[in-house]
Amino acid sequence: MADIIKLLPDHVANQIAAGEVVQRPASVVKELLENAIDAGAETIKLIIKDGGKTLIQVVDDGSGMSETDARLSFERHATSKINRAEDLFKLSTKGFRGEALASIAAIAHVEMQTKPEEAELGTHLKIEGSKIIFQEVQVVPKGTSISVKHLFFNIPARRNFLKSNQVELRHITDEFHRVALAHPQISFHYYVNGSELFGLPKCNLRQRIVHVFGSKTNQKLVPVQEETQVVKISGFINKPEFAKKSRGEQFFFVNDRFIKSPYLHHAVLAAFEGLVKPDCHPGYFLYLQVDPGSIDINIHPTKTEVKFDDEHTLYAILRSTIKHSLGQFNVVPALDFETDQNLATPYSYKDKSATIPKITVDPSFNPFVESGNKEVATKTYQLGAVAGTGRGAANWEGLYVGLKSDMGSEETNFGNLRFESDSITGSIFEGQADTTHSIATTFQLRRKYIVTTIKSGMLVIDQSRAHQRVLYEKFLKNSTVKQAVSQQLLFPLSLSFSKTDVVVLKDIKDTLVAIGFVFDKITEELVQVSGVPLLVPESEVGMVLDQLIADCQLEVGNGSFSQTDILSKTLAKTLAVKTGEVLESASQLALVNDLFACKEPMVSPFNKPIYITITENEIDKKFI
Ligand code: ADP
Ligand code: MG
Repeated sequence: MADIIKLLPDHVANQIAAGEVVQRPASVVKELLENAIDAGAETIKLIIKDGGKTLIQVVDDGSGMSETDARLSFERHATSKINRAEDLFKLSTKGFRGEALASIAAIAHVEMQTKPEEAELGTHLKIEGSKIIFQEVQVVPKGTSISVKHLFFNIPARRNFLKSNQVELRHITDEFHRVALAHPQISFHYYVNGSELFGLPKCNLRQRIVHVFGSKTNQKLVPVQEETQVVKISGFINKPEFAKKSRGEQFFFVNDRFIKSPYLHHAVLAAFEGLVKPDCHPGYFLYLQVDPGSIDINIHPTKTEVKFDDEHTLYAILRSTIKHSLGQFNVVPALDFETDQNLATPYSYKDKSATIPKITVDPSFNPFVESGNKEVATKTYQLGAVAGTGRGAANWEGLYVGLKSDMGSEETNFGNLRFESDSITGSIFEGQADTTHSIATTFQLRRKYIVTTIKSGMLVIDQSRAHQRVLYEKFLKNSTVKQAVSQQLLFPLSLSFSKTDVVVLKDIKDTLVAIGFVFDKITEELVQVSGVPLLVPESEVGMVLDQLIADCQLEVGNGSFSQTDILSKTLAKTLAVKTGEVLESASQLALVNDLFACKEPMVSPFNKPIYITITENEIDKKFI
């Protein structure tokens, strides 16, 4: 048999390597920024156009390269950072694999201008798909500028796989944050489509965090400091009360390199245990310095995963260090406590269940009498959001008009009457004649389920999921109605957000307005809200917006959901009654009624079952 194995040509090998190193524009940004840092730059500029699809450019004032080095830097395995295999265990640079520039040049149009300090003239080089187009001598400033255009021009499958400009930009911004947070001693400027998104001066770590995440961040930070033989830990954690629904602000740096480590993350969570609500994530910016010989960075092409020699010890040290910081902060809470009312507002959410006893109940309530029923019933399980505002209650009812006409049922109030309608009760109630009668019997089980009887047996309904479904359909409906129903706030609320959150907020603003938010002003870090959708209590506006931003970031990154859908889900999840809340029987009934007026009463917006039926037969069997 003839020999069939041959060595791949370099440009093919480079393209294959690029598949690992360059997943999206943000990967290019990471590599270029890291090269600039390795070159000892003091000021780095990042310029992005159209989510990096049109242009990614990094300009630094670092060491620059000689003419030969400029050419060599694009060769595979060409690096100035290591010489021997042993060097891998004393790394002090970001790069060492020598494949980033070669990979990028294999799949894009790359232009480089570079000059070392001592040289008079610099080099200008252009490469497209690993082919040198030209190399010439040019007058350029000290340092290096690399621009990358037409990313994936020769791999259409990858190019088509890229997400929208907004999503790609978000990934780039995340990458920029990671690098900027690891190097406060370097000044960074980040331009997006011609305007400066971040201008970060050289400063200390605390200032850098505040510059990146907004001025409201300062009061959240608790310093962390520990030095042992194994590791030196420094940085900040956010005070527990600022834990967010999103995981946004969680950063580990090991020897100034951003890394992901589920194991160490767990150590932090363990330290916060009992201090944050179960579905909230504490923020942290933790910097670990370890002996380079005790870690292996070369386990992943993008170098975001690290293998530690002694993970268990690290875990224990990290956990106790953070506990210690939290303890200190608890002992002396007055130290840098400066409560901003605007920030405090959203978190009053945690007191929500305490408001329940205030709810008025109509003692003369009778589910079989139309009038009076709907007002009391809905007020309670909508958390009093519209209670007391006559306008709100009226509009609430208005929301239903569209929903009902859609379903072809006769015009009714949404009290018990609707439940009697055949088209709405659907298939679960076998004996229609009996339905109205049986449904009047509801009770709450363990503040979690509503139990009600039907002819064939009984229904056990998850109260929270049921309410989610009702609200979800309502918000969806509302956002498709031309004029969204909105409640005007007496005093506009000023809420502060980070710049990145504001960018997301601007992206989703139109949808938010469609749902009923009214924004007076959106500036770099401040958002003024003067109207909110019905059902959103004023005290929860901040929290709701936080959650909306977080979910949008997550979902849009993940796939193709429409914004309206994501926002409706988030609002439903956030505003629905929760497990543990007591519901008056009138509210239970109204919720059941509303649920079965929904288009899909069986599953929650998150595809979880809402109710189960237990037939008489099944019960009988248990008694055999
Ligand atoms: P690595 O960073 O792993 O060494 P790269 O492909 O990223 O590999 O870069 C190859 C080489 O090119 C680097 O080792 C460095 O010597 C040089 N280089 C790349 N970017 C710059 C820059 N911005 N300034 C100076 N030298 C650079
Ligand atoms: Mg590199």
